[in-house]
Amino acid sequence: MCTSRMLCFSATRTSKRTDWHQMRPFERLQPLMQHPYNRMRRVITPDRIAKPVSSLAGGCVALTFDDGPHPAYTHEVLDVLADHEIPATFFVVGRNARRHPEILRRILGEGHSVASHSMTHTDPWLLTPAELWRDYRAGHLEVSSVAGRDVRLFRPPKGHLDRRSAVAIRAARLRTVLWSVDPSDWEPHLGPQDILERIGKPVAGDIVLLHDAVESPHDSASLDRSATVRAVAKYLEYAVRDGTTFTSLQ
Ligand SMILES: [Zn+2]
Repeated sequence: MCTSRMLCFSATRTSKRTDWHQMRPFERLQPLMQHPYNRMRRVITPDRIAKPVSSLAGGCVALTFDDGPHPAYTHEVLDVLADHEIPATFFVVGRNARRHPEILRRILGEGHSVASHSMTHTDPWLLTPAELWRDYRAGHLEVSSVAGRDVRLFRPPKGHLDRRSAVAIRAARLRTVLWSVDPSDWEPHLGPQDILERIGKPVAGDIVLLHDAVESPHDSASLDRSATVRAVAKYLEYAVRDGTTFTSLQ
């Protein structure tokens, strides 16, 4: 009798263990996912908090340049844009804008837009929520003071948008812009042709991410932006012939 009970108990335990191990990981988490806090986290995503824009509704293409202004390469990009009379948007780092306000004035004077790309371009995951808010707000104030108007457009460093950075963006009352085309032109040792192939043909609505400077590169070769300048010149020759229209972001 006693032996039989023990066998029965043992068999039941074995059966439960088997069921648990046969469950998929998601099924094991189901009871936890029903908690109201977790349901809220699934609904209130970083995208819903910061509402990023990654493409344009109209038929235009937007060229965007990050991490500047740079005392040499931003001027070279501006020269190429002037040759084709194409507007663009420069997401500048606040501390670089402070060093080179005259370049921002040239950007604005030639009909382009400026926007903020934070004050220090620190990796967002290294900052506390309060530090994120202070950095994003300081970048916004720096760009606005040189532009002489309230500039709300913002791109987080490295496009990093987790819940904390989304909350900081929302708290600083900024409008998030990401991109639809990323040729990763910051990678070292790329030639203009490599970048052109990665950009591909212009498609209406695209927001193209490029770099007239590179903050904190892993490889110092990334600091040489001449391949991007030459790629943009070639791209615009083709795009203008193709009838593509460009716009700056407002
Ligand atoms: Zn950047």
